[in-house]
Amino acid sequence: MKRPGSVKAYLIDIEGVLVRDKRYQPVPGAVDWLTSLAATGRPYCLVSNNTTHRPGDLIGDLVRVGFPVTESHLVGALGLGMRWLRERNREKIRWLGTPGLEDYWREEGFETVTDRSCDAVVLGANSELEISALDGVLGPVLDEGADLLCLHRNLFYLDEAGRRRLGPGAWAAALEALGGAGQVVTVGKPSEGIYLEGLKRVGVAPDEALFISDDPISDLVTAGRLGMRTAFVLSGKYPDHGVLARLEEIDWPDIVCSRMSDLDNQEEETV
Ligand SMILES: [Mg+2]
Repeated sequence: MKRPGSVKAYLIDIEGVLVRDKRYQPVPGAVDWLTSLAATGRPYCLVSNNTTHRPGDLIGDLVRVGFPVTESHLVGALGLGMRWLRERNREKIRWLGTPGLEDYWREEGFETVTDRSCDAVVLGANSELEISALDGVLGPVLDEGADLLCLHRNLFYLDEAGRRRLGPGAWAAALEALGGAGQVVTVGKPSEGIYLEGLKRVGVAPDEALFISDDPISDLVTAGRLGMRTAFVLSGKYPDHGVLARLEEIDWPDIVCSRMSDLDNQEEETV
């Protein structure tokens, strides 16, 4: 049960909230809204499942279109995934995410293999993923006990053309159903860890934070269960609130609005 109180910090999803999709064009009003929030001095961070951009490139794309953000604002699934692997000495990975990030994994000290055994199979969004690549990890998962690291579990996302594409959550469900001996771990939303990391970054208690996202299922259910206030914006994946019929009422967001600029960020609003 949430206590009434004011919003002291904001945890913000990127795609569908700041920008509509992977073309990274700002949602109308979003740049001004974040700029005016920054002027209040209240803390905010970006809690992102993005696994298609290097963190520096992701922030660079947002800065280029006018958002007041730096890498210190980013709490990303990619970084948390790398931390999870390092802490367990899993250095040899099979990367099933976007091919453009393969070099980044290597630069960060991981060995990426395509046809040999590995410590972990790592899933991220990949609009070029082919079934043969999934077949290719049957050996590591079924026979070798490789861990399955899901950077996130989004079931779908909007690609560079604004089209819906199956996300790593769909592939994760398929590979998890194989029942391999390795661990199955998710580091991004909707896993709790990334939310707790975001709260630590902004330095507030859950009931002092507002989580803003375009995905009430993959993003806001966990935020609400952790005690945060939640705002569902209709500027991304879902053009209306019909998707809420798929949730129990207790998991419905506190606020539904068309875009983040509809939210008042000048008052410490009681939600
Ligand atoms: Mg989103």
